[in-house]
Amino acid sequence: MAIRKIIQPDNPTLRRKARRVISFDRDFQQLVDDMIDTLDEAQGVGLAAPQIEVSQRVIIVRLPDDEESRKEYGKDAGVLYVVANPEIIKASKEMVEGVEACLSIPGYYGTVDRHESVVVTGQDRKGKPIRVKAKGWLARVFQHEIDHLDGRLYIDIAKEIWEARPEDAQPEEQPAKESASGSS
Ligand SMILES: [Zn+2]
Repeated sequence: MAIRKIIQPDNPTLRRKARRVISFDRDFQQLVDDMIDTLDEAQGVGLAAPQIEVSQRVIIVRLPDDEESRKEYGKDAGVLYVVANPEIIKASKEMVEGVEACLSIPGYYGTVDRHESVVVTGQDRKGKPIRVKAKGWLARVFQHEIDHLDGRLYIDIAKEIWEARPEDAQPEEQPAKESASGSS
């Protein structure tokens, strides 16, 4: 297990379309473990492999597990999702605006429209098919992370971007809750 360096947009790996995961071997298990350690260290809620300079289609997502989060997100709070080769197979027509940040773009926030809910299919870390129904903030994080696999960043689609003031800077991925009327 190891904490890996999170790269920023000056590194072209972040802009590349990542390759499908075809082997769920020991190296892949190591990659997933390292991604979990790296996310914990950064206190984020989601990480995609390209962010640690590995051009493979795997993401991890985990909403906070504190009391407030459990109240707001119920059973989604604190659950670790590891999804290889994720695909959004269904997305709500309803879009919601929310505030996002990215571990690869520290110190900035932006408002982004996302689908209120999505259904994601893919494979777990052993290669078994999985399907995740996500709503609200969880759906937002999945959309943000899956975008990373195609080299897309939230700043490409944000309606507004601003620099965090040093006093409220938080080293989190998507630290803010939905600014719209609590869609989760
Ligand atoms: Zn990101």
